[in-house]
Amino acid sequence: MNSSVATEIYAGLGSFAVLGLAAGGYAYAAMWPASRIFGRALIAPPHPGELALTFDDGPNPACTPRLLDTLASCDVRATFFMVGRYAQAEPVLVRRIAQAGHLIGNHSWSHPNLALTSPARVREEMVRTSDALQQITGQPVRYFRPPFGGRRPYVLRVARELGMTPVLWNAITTDWSEPSADCIAERLKHKIDRNQRRGLATNIVLHDGGHLTLGANREPSVTAVGQLLAHYKATHKFVTLDAWSE
Ligand SMILES: [Zn+2]
Repeated sequence: MNSSVATEIYAGLGSFAVLGLAAGGYAYAAMWPASRIFGRALIAPPHPGELALTFDDGPNPACTPRLLDTLASCDVRATFFMVGRYAQAEPVLVRRIAQAGHLIGNHSWSHPNLALTSPARVREEMVRTSDALQQITGQPVRYFRPPFGGRRPYVLRVARELGMTPVLWNAITTDWSEPSADCIAERLKHKIDRNQRRGLATNIVLHDGGHLTLGANREPSVTAVGQLLAHYKATHKFVTLDAWSE
């Protein structure tokens, strides 16, 4: 997920409208996190009291190290959905993340909207990233989050063929463009508490990197993580996504 979601959705609507398809329905199926029209994905189980912190668009040498320190200070493990080309550029950081006990997932090689990407490239984006991550960490990659949440049945099928569970989310805010850590944390608390009232765990998306450039400033997101940890550490259990395996 990231800042050009709306642009991508509207670009998608334009091209599909030309094809005469029901564009609104297609955008819902392709982009809406809770939609199952294009296939099942892991969101969050009925385990109120459990929280999964997930970080997209890293690894990022500008922000991920402080994030790792913040998580370690509370003895919490998280899930990192990495952009393959950034992982290839930062193998030492990737190994540090893995060695700290965090779970590493695939977030494609170059972060295209896979709802609008050719089948051959969809497969290449996933295979290349899993291969690079496995080579760096020595561990197989079991989880995949599509960039922007964009998908179609083929995308989810390829992920499962490659041994990965597709993952979406049920708590997100525009942390990549929000300068106030307080705002990021407050909006996420509202969503976490809403999910809790509905009897659900929360799968939280934050960003430790930016898909347009390596080294993006995500300091407000990292500071918000510290606030969420302080707020929920005593009452909730922080888990990695493999605790929710299907
Ligand atoms: Zn992303």
